[in-house]
Amino acid sequence: MEYGRKNPFPATIKEAYCLARDNVKETNHYIVDIANSGLEYKPGDSLGLFPHNDPGLVDELLQKLSASGEEGVELKRKGEFTFREALMEHLTIHRANRKFLKPLIAKLPANDRKELERLLSDRTALDQYLNVRDYIDILGEYPTAKFTPQEFADSVGGITPRLYSIASAPGTHPDEVHLTVAVVRYNSFERDRAGLATGFLADRVTVDETHVPVFIQPTRGFVIPEDGSRDIIMVGPGTGIAPFRAFLEQREMDGGKGRNWLIFGEWFEKTTFFYEDEFRAW
Ligand SMILES: Cc1cc2nc3c(=O)[nH]c(=O)nc-3n(C[C@H](O)[C@H](O)[C@H](O)COP(=O)(O)OP(=O)(O)OC[C@H]3O[C@@H](n4cnc5c(N)ncnc54)[C@H](O)[C@@H]3O)c2cc1C
Repeated sequence: MEYGRKNPFPATIKEAYCLARDNVKETNHYIVDIANSGLEYKPGDSLGLFPHNDPGLVDELLQKLSASGEEGVELKRKGEFTFREALMEHLTIHRANRKFLKPLIAKLPANDRKELERLLSDRTALDQYLNVRDYIDILGEYPTAKFTPQEFADSVGGITPRLYSIASAPGTHPDEVHLTVAVVRYNSFERDRAGLATGFLADRVTVDETHVPVFIQPTRGFVIPEDGSRDIIMVGPGTGIAPFRAFLEQREMDGGKGRNWLIFGEWFEKTTFFYEDEFRAW
């Protein structure tokens, strides 16, 4: 079977460890097991992954919608699911989107519509409103609006895959894809929130157990020069270092005579110098 974006491989994470953590930032290294997948990659490619939602958030949302989760819903181009399955694996629920506001407005009495209608005509205010809210927040602000599971499923967006630059060369780490991931965390309306994919990887994936649907997203032009005698200059601050770890591993394997310059920047040398031992040893 050939795996790809439309048919992702159910990989597992074989190792996960923290590269750096302080009170503002958390960056992790993940080793994704792609053995027996037939997936192939080269330095410069990215790994796409489809994250799942937080079951706690799904439960809260079901409660807000007065739904059990057992209801059936149909998702365009995907098929039929229970509402809980749709919320867990297919619909974006950790952040609200613009599409939701029109059906919401239609369910409100005239007096309650004004503020949302104003937002729809002011892009900046709308972005500010949506950036800090999810559907639990919005439904809490408009408790008279009632959505059936199907109406809700039709009114929110689907989960789109997240891409991560591959931080390993395939010859150095056969059957593995390494990732360098900065976890998105913030607090809004007194609830702690996390990015969908980075929160999934950091908080909900159990090593060797949880299936993470993945595919390879090949690069178009971000490649190592074929001529190994050419010098290369790489500039990769923060997690931007990821593809260059792959480049350097590949250059070492290829044994070319070209020089490698890596320019890396992060906040603190002591705590956020990712892969310090490896880079100093090179
Ligand atoms: C080609 C490519 C390669 C990439 N490689 C890497 C990589 O190697 N490593 C890596 O870590 N990332 C990488 N990324 C980024 C990655 O794809 C994700 O976008 C990122 O990890 C966030 O995903 P998420 O699902 O966790 O966050 P999402 O759920 O998508 O949420 C992110 C959003 O949260 C919001 N947000 C963040 N902080 C706050 C706040 N304080 N208040 C309110 N809202 C906030 C912002 O609007 C932000 O856009 C890459 C992206 C691309 C396109």
